[in-house]
Amino acid sequence: MARYRESVCRFCRRETTKLFLKGDRCFTDKCSVERRNYPPGQHGQSRAKHTDYGVQLREKQKVRRIYGILEKQFRNYVHLAEKRKGVTGENLLQLLESRLDNMVYRMGFAASRSEARQLVNHGHFLVNGRRVDVASFRTKAGMVIEVDEKSRTINSIEESLKTVTRRGIPAWVEVDVSNFKGVIKALPAREDLPPTIREQLIVEFYSK
Ligand code: SF4
Repeated sequence: MARYRESVCRFCRRETTKLFLKGDRCFTDKCSVERRNYPPGQHGQSRAKHTDYGVQLREKQKVRRIYGILEKQFRNYVHLAEKRKGVTGENLLQLLESRLDNMVYRMGFAASRSEARQLVNHGHFLVNGRRVDVASFRTKAGMVIEVDEKSRTINSIEESLKTVTRRGIPAWVEVDVSNFKGVIKALPAREDLPPTIREQLIVEFYSK
């Protein structure tokens, strides 16, 4: 899979908002958005004009980067969301939230979604007792996610569980920290997710 190798803090600066891509650092004053809250590059501080298309594009890029998904796969999620019953934008967010790497992050087993993806890819997690090493695996309500017994001494998992209180564990998952296990009580409803995401703009972007 293709990878972006520059500092991910540039993504946050480009969107002029925190996307929380670097784990605990995002909650410190080392955060680049705290220090330089304007887009990177030579013209970063000049006033940009925003067309409708530009606004939709930025929203799409923002959400794509939050979840760390490449363009083609993101577009596939949008198409899948359109086919489902209900509001397309909300379906899209639910599909993104249901990814296994996102759930591992939400449960606090990883400090960021990229770290979660790496841990999943390396086979450190079981879903309903079976090893799953596909980050995009689609989870459902009621599924149990746990760290494999042999992987419970991994430093990054222990550290993440210690510091997860800073960002908090959402109410729609239940985590048993001492047993390295979490249950998805329900997939998140729209009101459980940040109001700053304007998913309708993403749907409009792809409807052209
Ligand atoms: Fe974004 Fe985190 Fe970097 Fe701040 S520290 S710019 S929130 S990735």
